[in-house]
Amino acid sequence: MGFASLGSGSRGNGTLVALGQDAPGQHDAPQRLFLVDCGFTLKQTETRLHRLGLSAGDIDAIFVTHEHADHIGGIAALAHKYAIDVYASYGTLKHELKGVVTHAVDGDVPFELDGVQVNPVRVPHDAKEPTQFVFSDSTETIGVLSDLGCVTGHVVEQFSHCTHLLLEANHDSHMLRTGSYPPRLKQRVGADYGHLSNEQAWELLQRVAHQDLSVVLGHISEQNNNLALLQREFASFTEQLGGLAFASQDDGFGWVGRRPLTRQISFANLV
Ligand SMILES: [Zn+2]
Ligand SMILES: [Zn+2]
Repeated sequence: MGFASLGSGSRGNGTLVALGQDAPGQHDAPQRLFLVDCGFTLKQTETRLHRLGLSAGDIDAIFVTHEHADHIGGIAALAHKYAIDVYASYGTLKHELKGVVTHAVDGDVPFELDGVQVNPVRVPHDAKEPTQFVFSDSTETIGVLSDLGCVTGHVVEQFSHCTHLLLEANHDSHMLRTGSYPPRLKQRVGADYGHLSNEQAWELLQRVAHQDLSVVLGHISEQNNNLALLQREFASFTEQLGGLAFASQDDGFGWVGRRPLTRQISFANLV
């Protein structure tokens, strides 16, 4: 089915994952719609969903990767108002979500939810128990992989068979080093429990790339990165992938994969 984004970056994240078979005669309706993270206010979330032709009532379940505000900030209000169950690791759920039905999941223990296989993957990041996710049905495997400080063999293995992948390319190391962030923040972002640099994202992608994989690079720093640089650095992947695009903070990205995926999702259609 595919994925889309409400917005991606340090001021808020939200990724929609649609999997399962269309109901007969309802080819536009995903069987299951999951939201991974929500760092936006309730009003912003409703507006951003509307932009994609959806309402919050369409969401079947919410997954939270970790307790940083750009991922969890909007969860309680949204889940409470629309009575949507929330799934996250035990560590993430130490962050209180008032008035919300929560389900703690074990990191690295796959489970099934409404016919969709959910694989919570532990990653190195400076949160209590950060867990990214791989979702799959009989035809597609959708990975959401943001906020990781370094590439581990475990992460490469778990994200190796995706058909769709949202991958963090947070910063250019030189821009981070010479930019305006305070020294302590520079240190945090660049460390092994911080965020993935462009070079690290490139190396990871080199290890998981294949012709049927559509990649969207996201969580792109507005201070320490830029689109032209990313386009140049990742240009070599256009022949190796089914598609490559970039998510933005304000617009996220539109549906990738709800129609048959071709090379049209490429540099010609960049956000
Ligand atoms: Zn984040
Ligand atoms: Zn984070």
